[in-house]
Amino acid sequence: MLDYFDIDAKLSQEERLIRDEARKFVDERVRPDIAEHYEEATFPTELIPEMGEMGFYAPNLDGYGLPGVSETAYGLLMQELEACDSGLRSMASVQGALVMYPIHAYGSDEQKDEWLPKLGEGEAVGCFGLTEPEHGSNPSAMETQAEKTDEGYVLNGSKTWITNSPIADVAVVWARDKSEADTPIRGFLVETERDGVTTNKIDEKLSLRASITGEIDLNDVWVPEANRLPGVEGMKGPLSCLTQARYGIAWGAVGAARDSFEQARDYALERDQFGGPIARFQMQQEKLAEMATQITLSQLLAFRLAELKEADEMRPQHVSMAKRNNVRMARDQSRVAREMLGGNGITLDYSPMRHMSNMETVYTYEGTHDIHTLILGEDLTGIPAYNQ
Ligand code: FAD
Repeated sequence: MLDYFDIDAKLSQEERLIRDEARKFVDERVRPDIAEHYEEATFPTELIPEMGEMGFYAPNLDGYGLPGVSETAYGLLMQELEACDSGLRSMASVQGALVMYPIHAYGSDEQKDEWLPKLGEGEAVGCFGLTEPEHGSNPSAMETQAEKTDEGYVLNGSKTWITNSPIADVAVVWARDKSEADTPIRGFLVETERDGVTTNKIDEKLSLRASITGEIDLNDVWVPEANRLPGVEGMKGPLSCLTQARYGIAWGAVGAARDSFEQARDYALERDQFGGPIARFQMQQEKLAEMATQITLSQLLAFRLAELKEADEMRPQHVSMAKRNNVRMARDQSRVAREMLGGNGITLDYSPMRHMSNMETVYTYEGTHDIHTLILGEDLTGIPAYNQ
């Protein structure tokens, strides 16, 4: 596997072990069927508990049976999952960073006791409801409302593009609390079996097909006060979760690019044209050299990001730069790999076009490329340009 600057030498034994076990799991349990799942637009749901047993959900958190592995180990894990398919990494990102993280960081003891073990083991599935039909890049304009009643809240609104909502047991739903004058945003744990919750599936996606996506409609859904996340209010709640998930994406996207590179290199060495392997042509070597360079730069960026996170020095803007760069890199390089495979490259027999198509989603979700550009622009100039 491409590791041109020997990052392996900087890893602990535990980090190598976690990476190697994830790679083995992916190779044995997921890779053989992933193209079929992609074609059928299904997720291998039978693997959800196995992924839990493997410790794929929020292993960087501790307590409640979670191992508290290093941020580098967590990143390496995301990289191996996404080297197989972005749908697999999305499952682990949503469950770990977008559902378990807010419960861990902002939940009551009862909420943690109830949900963290089940979610960690993959006995329950969670989803994260932030995006609305009219509010994607600007979730602070959300319309979903929570109205206080004597013993709880009544929720009304619609969320869309929600990974795993049709198979979720619980949704972390972000809503405006209408009972207070400044309508603060609050997080609620909403069991999907509650009256008034519907989670229709979104069909006919051309990207991230091996991942289930849906809506969450909330029609006078009552939840008890005990279901509100007590430890946070305002946009800090959802944005802090996104920082965690984007961190995993910055690592994961490199996996998709690396897998595309490996396929292109193997293919170039085996495919003969004009009397020998296409790998002997300078034009093909230039593509491989550029791909390897871009992947290596992204690996180094992700590795340093992990050091900053571990030292508690990582800012959301660092994550924006890494997510923005590494996803764009994977989007560009998977396309070059596809090109090197000629006609065969457009089939599901090879991974690059699947990765390339997945990258359209990864480029768009968790803050579009444009939005991360604006975050960096604001950080570098002090001038926010979102509304101009
Ligand atoms: P819009 O915000 O309408 O943007 C459209 C275009 O305008 C984009 O190119 C954008 O970059 C650009 N744009 C917007 N504002 C600006 C600006 N100020 N300056 C310049 N350009 C701008 N959401 C969840 O809450 N939970 C999930 O689990 C989840 N999973 C998803 C899974 C998939 C497969 C997909 C596709 C999306 C998912 N999302 C999820 C939603 C995702 O986060 C949003 O699609 C994303 O935030 C963009 O919002 P939008 O689609 O409404 O696009």
